[in-house]
Amino acid sequence: MLKGKVALVTGASRGIGREIAKELAKNGAFVIVNYHGSKEKAQNVVEEIKADGGEAISYGCNVASFSETEHMIAELVKTYQRIDILVNNAGITRDNLIMKMSEEDFDCVLEINLKGTFNTIRHISRQMLKQRAGKIINIASVSGVLGNAGQANYAASKAGIIGLTKTMARELAPRGINVNAVAPGFIKTEMTDILSDAVKEQAVSQIPFKRFGETKEVAQTVVFLASDAASYITGQVLCVDGGMAM
Ligand code: NAP
Repeated sequence: MLKGKVALVTGASRGIGREIAKELAKNGAFVIVNYHGSKEKAQNVVEEIKADGGEAISYGCNVASFSETEHMIAELVKTYQRIDILVNNAGITRDNLIMKMSEEDFDCVLEINLKGTFNTIRHISRQMLKQRAGKIINIASVSGVLGNAGQANYAASKAGIIGLTKTMARELAPRGINVNAVAPGFIKTEMTDILSDAVKEQAVSQIPFKRFGETKEVAQTVVFLASDAASYITGQVLCVDGGMAM
């Protein structure tokens, strides 16, 4: 389905990003597994993809840095001549109630989640415009759609990603580029492992499907949006959340 396509997945060393990288590769794409701190884990993802018959490399870059992302994308374009699929998945949480939230925790979540998404799109858009084709998929969150107590920084970053997605969809549609967001609900990863049992139980009670989602359920949605099957879909926010935000 994605044979011959070059895909960059940010934050693909673990969790949802890892699964997206594997699923894109399984469908034929050449995948660049981006990471920041977890070099070894990213290399393991590459090895798993190769063992499965796919093609991938790992590439370290802090997406919060404008100049680092510029360098990464310039180097990838020089080497591979094109980038067909960009998945902005890198993200962090620093949860706290607003009264206790530090300026640093607000800023770093916005820097990585929202500015990181801007950075990659900013630097890749020139190449995609030249190609007159491309698929950009931004990983938002149900928190950015509904809001979530204790996540002012995170929800603001994800709501920002939704605004960015819709604006990019309008700007880039005339050149055949699709820009969409996927908004996961509670998915089983290291990000949600740290939640207390009480918080997990409370979360499950709000999910119509009464369970957390699997990383694969998000990854398969991303593959759909990256494929020609989604050629007439742009500017949308697809919630993969067991029904939370209906
Ligand atoms: P995770 O397991 O904590 O993984 C986060 C990934 O982001 C890691 O690969 C990490 O790489 C990367 N990352 C962090 N800072 C980075 C930076 N500055 N530059 C490049 N990469 C960076 O998280 P996850 O649960 O898989 O979440 C993935 C995405 O889905 C995030 O955007 C998150 O907000 C979103 N999401 C998750 C859930 C959920 O329930 N899990 C729900 C809604 C949305 P390194 O370790 O190499 O730094």
